Amino acid sequence: MGKPSINMTREEKIKQLQEEEFDLLVIGGGVTGAGIALDAAARGLRTALVEKEDFASGTSSRSTKLVHGGLRYLKQFEIGLVSEVGRERAIVHRNAPHLVIPEKMLMPLVKGGTYGKIATSLGLTVYDILAGVRKSDRREMLDRDQALMEEPLLNPHNLLGAGLYSEYRTDDARLTIELIKAASRYGAICLNYMKLTEFKLNKGHLTGGDCLDLINDKKISLSAKFVVNACGPWVDELRKMNNSLKGKKLHLTKGVHLVVAHNKLPVRNSTYFDVPDGRMIFSIPRGDKTYIGTTDTDYSGNMERVVTTEKDAMYLIGSVNSAFPSVSLSLDDVEANWAGLRPLIHQEGKPVSEISRRDEIFEAADGLISIAGGKLTGYRKMAEKTVDLVVKRMHRDHGRKFPGSETEHIFLLDNHLEEDEIHGYTGSVGKILESIGMPAVKAEYLVTNYGKQADIILALAAGLNLPDTGEGLIRSELTYSIENESVMNSVDFFDRRTGRLYFDIDSVLKYQEIVKDHLAEHFGWDEIRRKEEDSLLEQKIFDARHFFKTDF
Ligand code: FAD
Repeated sequence: MGKPSINMTREEKIKQLQEEEFDLLVIGGGVTGAGIALDAAARGLRTALVEKEDFASGTSSRSTKLVHGGLRYLKQFEIGLVSEVGRERAIVHRNAPHLVIPEKMLMPLVKGGTYGKIATSLGLTVYDILAGVRKSDRREMLDRDQALMEEPLLNPHNLLGAGLYSEYRTDDARLTIELIKAASRYGAICLNYMKLTEFKLNKGHLTGGDCLDLINDKKISLSAKFVVNACGPWVDELRKMNNSLKGKKLHLTKGVHLVVAHNKLPVRNSTYFDVPDGRMIFSIPRGDKTYIGTTDTDYSGNMERVVTTEKDAMYLIGSVNSAFPSVSLSLDDVEANWAGLRPLIHQEGKPVSEISRRDEIFEAADGLISIAGGKLTGYRKMAEKTVDLVVKRMHRDHGRKFPGSETEHIFLLDNHLEEDEIHGYTGSVGKILESIGMPAVKAEYLVTNYGKQADIILALAAGLNLPDTGEGLIRSELTYSIENESVMNSVDFFDRRTGRLYFDIDSVLKYQEIVKDHLAEHFGWDEIRRKEEDSLLEQKIFDARHFFKTDF
């Protein structure tokens, strides 16, 4: 195991990147790359990870944020996949129970809907058994009246009943950040704003890559025995870079989500419901908001600026209004939105929603290992498969042996909270918040975001003793995330570390200057850099609050 790198400065990490030869270089700091870095570092491989923007800035902060067993695979009879993904759900929950939280999902059965009553009852039973769901958590079938009691907003005119089953919700970006931090505890050197620009080759074999440090605008040369391309939607861009883009290719589809105040769509449960075009979408309560998603449409626009169009938004609004007729949502009710790209593997002739979500590994002649496709839920297994291959090649080419994957038993946080401790801990966080004049309702937000790391944030907040308690909390979270979570700018903070850009946009509008000034002081930004920060955040706020005529 390498020396923990979690508290190293950026400069120290860069120095090490340049001086050492690594066993493995991972390109891409989404959930896939972060999972691979943790798996490899925990097995004892000297591991580096570079991310061209912020950790989780790609698809891994744009998902529906469910760690789910893939009910739709059952319809396609992908039994093996359902059972693997189901088992994975339980492992990811066990290793980070504050962040991967059990959630009941209501699936209304309607006249002419995707699933009939008998098929749903049978399907959900098989789903539970395959996923190893505890007996007490297994599915319940509700008749029409019970379904209406469970969710009074449903349309009584076409409702036949409902299935109530177990899934898990998470925060995709927080999951990725915690994986990066866990990998760093095992010695991996992980850097955001470090873009791979070119591969290095020796006698036809990859030996690392050249990167651009986007913070200091400096070139860095990195040496590694093996290189993994975990670039999500950008996987093919890297395969093109080393001339290995042959055979199977990616198929990008866009998915968008809308956030409204919970009182505008006051669903009691997360709901997975039929929409008029035959698809199914989710509405998920989170704090005092509800989010709705998602769409699934072919995408060929700008990958660096993926936005929600008016058409995307209208589709989701129309879908909600048809399932919950008393609600009457309009575009004006939407407080925020996000859009992301699914990095699927193209299957000739298949409509987008039927393309498999399976992952696949491509190995190029020069040794580049690319991992594509898959789901957030399957990140750990994808990492295990990828590192198994790296280890195999390491043995073949260098005669070195490494053990199997350990990640099934690695808690993501070293100050781990067990599931049965969460309730009590949240209560005590609430009491501390009250004692320092802050609203106790913030306890759930702090615990699901940070787990027991909330203790550090609370201690910082108590020390500040500011009259505006909202500002006190923001400042404490910011200090924590600069010191522990590689925050480099205000978007990293508001988007990937706190989710405030989507779930509490009012706090972004209110405290943005304080956050930017704090960062400017911490990093010693000059006036030009400070102005750049204004436009950077302004654009992100704009995108989160507007609908565009077309994609970029
Ligand atoms: P990414 O998160 O995109 O990471 C790739 C990273 O590579 C990016 O951060 C990028 O900046 C970086 N990169 C690219 N080029 C370079 C370079 N040259 N140098 C350095 N870095 C580079 N899955 C679920 O399990 N549950 C869900 O509820 C769910 N919902 C979804 C909803 C939507 C709308 C979408 C789009 C996907 C959803 N998924 C879901 C799928 C899941 O989000 C993705 O499978 C997963 O996040 C992909 O992660 P990744 O790390 O492979 O890609």
